[in-house]
Amino acid sequence: MLLITYGTRPEYIKVLPVINEMKKRGMLFKTFFTGQHTDLLKKAEKPDYILSIDNGPNRLDSIVQSILNKEEIFADIRCVMVQGDTSSAFATALAAFHRKIPVAHLEAGLRTYDKYSPYPEEFNRCAISALAEIHLCPTTVSAANLKKEGRNGVHIVGNTVLDNLNEVTTTASNTVVVTLHRREKLDQIKDWFLAVNNLAKEHKHLEFILPIHPNPEVKKHANILSDVKVVDPMGHTDFIKHLSSCAFIITDSGGVQEEAAFLKKPCIVCRDFTERIEGLGVFSVLCKEPSELSGMIKWATSVDLSSSVCPYGDGKSAQYICNLINNI
Ligand code: UDP
Repeated sequence: MLLITYGTRPEYIKVLPVINEMKKRGMLFKTFFTGQHTDLLKKAEKPDYILSIDNGPNRLDSIVQSILNKEEIFADIRCVMVQGDTSSAFATALAAFHRKIPVAHLEAGLRTYDKYSPYPEEFNRCAISALAEIHLCPTTVSAANLKKEGRNGVHIVGNTVLDNLNEVTTTASNTVVVTLHRREKLDQIKDWFLAVNNLAKEHKHLEFILPIHPNPEVKKHANILSDVKVVDPMGHTDFIKHLSSCAFIITDSGGVQEEAAFLKKPCIVCRDFTERIEGLGVFSVLCKEPSELSGMIKWATSVDLSSSVCPYGDGKSAQYICNLINNI
């Protein structure tokens, strides 16, 4: 029996294609919701196990502590699948390792080689790689990172996030979709919001829309965005409708970079580094400072991506993964 774990919105979005494919094939699995994003996952299917995270002075400590010693979750489990790089994914992988249960790591091998960017995700994914037996890498670049680290059991399967987009058709409009919320950018979020709002003022023919992240440290600056349509976080289907019909995207999200490339929408990435280097220069450009943002609009409004091939996968990852883990 496979245990599929997730705790955040992006993790759920990325494990869902695997869950659906396993159901289709009649494969046995259980699901474990580790409870990191309760507010963003209200519409997710009911998991077999739900964890509530203990309160404590350090949130990251509390997440890890809450997951260890949960014996009942691991009974009858022969393999644990964790996705990505959250602290709950790391803690679940560690708990599986302590029980000598093999770990399959979905979206393995992403690296910036800076343990504080993204924080704490870069550490978490390196630590999961050290514990995992099966590394399900999205691209040749991520697989090469793991080969360099001497890992065995490395497979290139594409990114499951794209499996959700197979039926989506793209259209054009004057909308700009913005998402900005990363932990390592929180002290700068005010400056990013100011820069986005100035863009909206300068480019009146573009309509800027920003689903605001529920993190209070992000939300408290929403009043800066007077010329931007600020909305609540959207359900994934609704969000993808906006992405597939926009002019371009401004984001610091990882998953949105991948989705943007699959939908062939230009993406300005507001980060110092991106581990999604495959799309850089074609589908995306890095914007390290808020002051650089306005200089990138010309690229975003003129680049033609129609004949470029998405480097993050072909939308069939869950099929490849189920073929691989069929015998567990
Ligand atoms: N997303 C969503 N609703 C929103 C904003 C984003 O469903 O209002 C989805 C988006 O399509 C992507 C994922 O959330 O699949 C990205 O999540 P996030 O930026 O929180 O995390 P990251 O990808 O950086 O780990």
